[in-house]
Amino acid sequence: MPDNGQHFVAVVGGAISGSVAAEILADRGIRVAVIEQNKRPYGKIEDGLPLWHVEQRKQEYARIDARLKKPGVYFVPSTKLGRDLEFGDFCNNWGFSAVILANGAWRDRDLGVAGAQEFVDKGLVYQNPFIYWYNHKNEKDYTGPRYETPDETIVVGGGLASIDVVKVLQIENYDRALKARGISTSMHELEKGIPAACKAHGVDPQSLGVKGCLLIYRRREQDMPLAQPPDGATPEQVAKTEMVRLKMLRLARDRYLFRVQDRRLTTGLVVENGRVVGLKVAETKIEGRKAEPIPGSEHELRAPLVISSIGSVPEILPGVAMKGEYYTFTDEDLPRYSGANRVFGVGNVVTGQGNIRVSLVHSQKVTKRLVEEYLRTGDSDAAGAASVASTEARAADQARALDQVVESLPALSQEQVAAIEKRIRARQEQVGYTSDYDSWIAKVTPPDLE
Ligand SMILES: Cc1cc2nc3c(=O)[nH]c(=O)nc-3n(C[C@H](O)[C@H](O)[C@H](O)COP(=O)(O)OP(=O)(O)OC[C@H]3O[C@@H](n4cnc5c(N)ncnc54)[C@H](O)[C@@H]3O)c2cc1C
Repeated sequence: MPDNGQHFVAVVGGAISGSVAAEILADRGIRVAVIEQNKRPYGKIEDGLPLWHVEQRKQEYARIDARLKKPGVYFVPSTKLGRDLEFGDFCNNWGFSAVILANGAWRDRDLGVAGAQEFVDKGLVYQNPFIYWYNHKNEKDYTGPRYETPDETIVVGGGLASIDVVKVLQIENYDRALKARGISTSMHELEKGIPAACKAHGVDPQSLGVKGCLLIYRRREQDMPLAQPPDGATPEQVAKTEMVRLKMLRLARDRYLFRVQDRRLTTGLVVENGRVVGLKVAETKIEGRKAEPIPGSEHELRAPLVISSIGSVPEILPGVAMKGEYYTFTDEDLPRYSGANRVFGVGNVVTGQGNIRVSLVHSQKVTKRLVEEYLRTGDSDAAGAASVASTEARAADQARALDQVVESLPALSQEQVAAIEKRIRARQEQVGYTSDYDSWIAKVTPPDLE
């Protein structure tokens, strides 16, 4: 890389949004350390998208690899901010010009029922560990929790990820039922559609006796966030989106044979012998975005397992202030953590949900703005002047906040850069990353990873 890297930026998280940020920085000659909690950097691509997305996963792995191999990127695996590195120390004392949080949303949103936490893995399971297990369960060295996939499981959800959870359960159930008849099939065959797979083996799916899992959603089917209307949508566009949602749900049900009950709000757990054996639910009345329980409609739904899939939010990082479920980011265009001058956010950690493209575009937009306005490399005075000039052009109410940012993103001396590099190298050695990116990935990839 050209030796004009007078800034050194840390990116926390190496997946879609983190690798995109790293690439943009590296392409502009800025040194960047990518701190990743796992050995492999692929985040939700590896541990969120279910296994059957074979080609998409491969493509995204290759894209992430290409970004993290850029000259000027220092990959630091097996290093978790908040566990191995203390947030305040890392942001204030390591000497980075800026820290970009790209650590995604890995905490399942709470089911919202008193005492639910006590029953995790006792009849109640959350989506993130469930999908992690599904994606890794066949690896010889997998040591994490193992989950059952009983027929008639209840999934609480409504979004795209909850449809994936339902698919996993149905695929597992029909796989088992077919095996019991001596018929061998595969996840890939069943994922293309259960009725079609059964037909190919001369079996009527109904004859297998699978009752199917039940997806419950608190609003109406047409409100499920399976598709989104454009910003500022007209009533016609909203109606069209509702039709798309209904169609998507119908197609998914036709293919995977699960059941749905809409307008059902979880109000409590049914517990027997220290284990969740069902949910208390109330029917709801929908008014706009509100789903109000209808008095007197409460009833029990019994199930061998309940999976909560109602969204993911950022993990709590010790030392990081929260506003509700999120870190306190200010300014939508350049999300800056309010508790520190030089800490920014990109991807799922800011947007909470979304998809690969949303994370990618968000990271591109934010990182480019950060670079162009505040991390100009080359002559540090010119960089400072450019930054100040652009700050002056902003609206008065933003100027004060941005001034603080400009002041706090100084170009670094060679000695400062060398000191950061030394700390990074020490950490890399500590975790066994002593060669290059490709050798590391080859070393830590399980031979039987699917
Ligand atoms: C079940 C499911 C199915 C999905 N299916 C699709 C789909 O079909 N198509 C689609 O486009 N999108 C899909 N998505 C969404 C998509 O995968 C994500 O929106 C996107 O990959 C998020 O990228 P990200 O970089 O913002 O976050 P992440 O992928 O979450 O990356 C965050 C990274 O930060 C690391 N990290 C976290 N905390 C720390 C820490 N404290 N210190 C260091 N590192 C840390 C993580 O290990 C991870 O590598 C799906 C998601 C789920 C859950």
